Amino acid sequence: MSEDTIGAIATPPGKGGVAIVRISGKEALPIAEKMFIPAGGVAVRDFSPYRLYPGRIAAEGFSDYGLCVYFRAPHSYTGEDIVEFQCHGGESVARGILAKCFSLGARSAGRGEFTRRAFLNGKLSLASAEGLADMINGESEAEVRAGYLLYSEKLTEQVREFQNQLKELLAGVDAAVDYPEEDLEEREAEALRPELVRIRDAVSALAAGYAKGRKIKSGVTVALCGKPNTGKSSLLNRLVGYEKAIVSEIAGTTRDAVEGTLEIGGVRFNLYDTAGMRESSDRIESIGIERAENIVRAADVVVFVSDGTEKGDDEEARVRRLAGEKPVIRLRNKIDLQEGELSSEADVLTSATTGEGVERLKELLYEKSFGARGEDAAFLIEERHFRALRRAAESLGRAAEGCCVQPLELVAADMTEAWETLGEITGETASEAVVEEIFSKFCVGK
Ligand code: GDP
Repeated sequence: MSEDTIGAIATPPGKGGVAIVRISGKEALPIAEKMFIPAGGVAVRDFSPYRLYPGRIAAEGFSDYGLCVYFRAPHSYTGEDIVEFQCHGGESVARGILAKCFSLGARSAGRGEFTRRAFLNGKLSLASAEGLADMINGESEAEVRAGYLLYSEKLTEQVREFQNQLKELLAGVDAAVDYPEEDLEEREAEALRPELVRIRDAVSALAAGYAKGRKIKSGVTVALCGKPNTGKSSLLNRLVGYEKAIVSEIAGTTRDAVEGTLEIGGVRFNLYDTAGMRESSDRIESIGIERAENIVRAADVVVFVSDGTEKGDDEEARVRRLAGEKPVIRLRNKIDLQEGELSSEADVLTSATTGEGVERLKELLYEKSFGARGEDAAFLIEERHFRALRRAAESLGRAAEGCCVQPLELVAADMTEAWETLGEITGETASEAVVEEIFSKFCVGK
């Protein structure tokens, strides 16, 4: 347990109804005793934990009337004694109270230091701490949901299960290596191989969830493609709900990629309007076209927009080639201008002018990205975790291949490597630099 007591304002900067000042460490309660006068005569040292007590909070130069709560170690967020003061939500009020805590022996907490202490005291795993940061920084409902799953140790539980299975197998290997005179080693290797393949496949299957998790964390990238003047900018504006892209009747005005963001089913979608992909001798337009092609390559979903009033479109083949395996939504726009039979050669028919078909387009964007509604539950949203799982799967693959071919000691070395790589996720084997980097992304009061 850390020696010093740390303090910070836990609520965001700015004015509000209430602000919270938090101190954690051995001196938390003695400091509270010196600066909090409870109403009703209960002494601070006799406080029942987890109960709010009203009273006068001394600050540097003034005092406030507020509430005090004591969380007793080890049943607190950090695992240490914690005291929180709830004061009036002026920044100066909270700062004055914090300054008083400092004058009584606490020191200023670093970024994420409360959570770091919680991690060091075994209150949560490293992955869980990262989930918490994802929740706090989450920009969409789905990201907050995913962050919560990660914070609730969903990933850690699975990773620890793999680690336990490996540990058990390693114990068997050790025993076989210790008695080389029997044919134990050979039999052990034969039995070991399918087990290693099974764990390797399970780790790989878990890693595969990142395809979904990445889209939840960073948002789904959508490229709007099609010839100039088909209504891509107008559609983007319709989707996003405000005038973002420049709309013009002159073909080729959307020269650069314009981004707009919207939420569908709680997931963030980042839209890129692209210049048309026709050949052009105009240098600036050519650059725009190159950008457009790069956007299609990087996109998760491509929407190919064509003008419903025109026949056939030779750009589609080009966009499809660029899109490769990615889902392409074929959209025919300007249906308000179309007379007679509507073309069925499209996944969705829209009018950017009237808004018709735009809701269906949103549904399609979601379906092509995640399948049915509600299929976006994920907790593998951190690239760090994904990479570690992939490296662990590689080590396990090597171990499985080595079985029956290599001495068991070498197989065991690959298994140990896999175990350690998995430990980077939970934090057991994470380097100091990695831990440092993760907590540096937190705010000071967390
Ligand atoms: P982009 O070059 O593909 O981005 O096309 P724009 O969004 O700039 O639209 C080109 C022109 O078509 C503009 O004059 C729009 O107002 C018009 N337009 C776009 N969508 C529709 C639509 O659904 N119906 C009608 N009637 N006009 C549209």
